[in-house]
Amino acid sequence: MKLKIILGLGLFIVAVTAHAEKIALVGATVINPADGKVMPNATVVINGDKIERVAMGKQDAATLGKQIGCVGKFILPGYIDTHVHFFQSGDLFTRPDGADLNSIRPYKDEVAWIKSHLDDVFARYIRCGITSVVDVGGPMWNFEVRKRASATAKAPRVAVAGPLISSVSREKLDLGDPPIVRIDSPDQTREFVRKLAEQKPDLVKIWYIVDKEHPVESFRPIARATIEESHAHKIRVAVHATELETARAAVEEGADILVHSVIDKPVDDAFVKLLKDRHIILCPTLVVFERYGRVFSHQLNLTPEEEAWGNPEVIATLDVTKIPQDKLPQRIKDALAKPEEALDRIKKTYDIALPNLKKLEDAGVTIAAGTDAGNIGTIHGPALFREFQLMKEAGLTPMQILQCATANAAKLFGGDIGSHIGKIEKANFADLVILNSNPLDDITHASDIDTVIKNGVLYPASELVPTSH
Ligand SMILES: [Zn+2]
Repeated sequence: MKLKIILGLGLFIVAVTAHAEKIALVGATVINPADGKVMPNATVVINGDKIERVAMGKQDAATLGKQIGCVGKFILPGYIDTHVHFFQSGDLFTRPDGADLNSIRPYKDEVAWIKSHLDDVFARYIRCGITSVVDVGGPMWNFEVRKRASATAKAPRVAVAGPLISSVSREKLDLGDPPIVRIDSPDQTREFVRKLAEQKPDLVKIWYIVDKEHPVESFRPIARATIEESHAHKIRVAVHATELETARAAVEEGADILVHSVIDKPVDDAFVKLLKDRHIILCPTLVVFERYGRVFSHQLNLTPEEEAWGNPEVIATLDVTKIPQDKLPQRIKDALAKPEEALDRIKKTYDIALPNLKKLEDAGVTIAAGTDAGNIGTIHGPALFREFQLMKEAGLTPMQILQCATANAAKLFGGDIGSHIGKIEKANFADLVILNSNPLDDITHASDIDTVIKNGVLYPASELVPTSH
């Protein structure tokens, strides 16, 4: 372990030195999912933190700077996960509102652990080739996370929303800086958005939760006022909406981004047209739909990438059989007693969500890849590769999946940074992934990472994160 850290530091120093000079990645196949272009025998010239040019064939060596041979490799824009939550670790104790395990690990200890492991989480994203992420809601200290990431070399670029504006509160998550804030009136939400705007959020997030006590229509005036006030401050609004009628209401009220999939019924043509006409970006977050149920029923299906690159402390907590029986919340006891029911619910969700994704993609709606990492069992970093598998199951091609995770995701990221990431082209940030095998042959190759480049700095992937085995 010690040796690894020293080695890592050595490479880091080399990398920083390399940063100042011009480098050229020579001879790889460059894949640009933005326009679907594939360039064999290409050269990518990086000057400082930016891409200077991309060209095919033999280049004048004098214009290249330091050459790095990349024959046989595949170069992509860095991946972007457009739905993560840094205030959640992905472990079993991270959502006491869903499964209260305070008696095993007090929630304040969980939050302290999360705050002390931010650099670790950042490095794991880079290990996975994820050079930008969007944090779609959390406490006010999210803004500190964004600041810390932008001051850290081995970290993704971070866009953030502040606390979630909701019809319901979640007291168990409230340690004085709640991630979810209950709002009861249009005036109250306008005041809250004005306060948020001082922090310059990249997004405002609405948690549009619908149940018997909270029908779609009762929260609609608050959603409308939130969107109006945010737009008045030139801030886009993302809405959590998992039912067709909730999602439709959110878009009709002016939402810019829908997060999660519609999972209660097949989307209809009018809905698809509405999303197209309004230029809505939708982030499906498929992986999160299986992970709560699978963790609680002891049926967790972590991928090899998650096992290798996820935080081992987080993963170790996910075995619910290690918790004394008398301390298990009822929800987990029930799931453990009937795992087949948990798996059946997941299957039913995907039976609707996957065809919905295919229909929206085929219609030309902008889909941005995202995982909801940080929720119980959804592992920060490598969860994106499970998301890719599920997008493939929905029927998306490797190029479509890569487009969702790069150029489309950059649109969701937004702002000036968003317009300089997600594509391999002149003047964009040099955030790249170098793969050993062709992801267009098989999307599983998207995790066959040789090197990650963030801000023009090269990181050999195997040196980025100590693996758990
Ligand atoms: Zn989320």
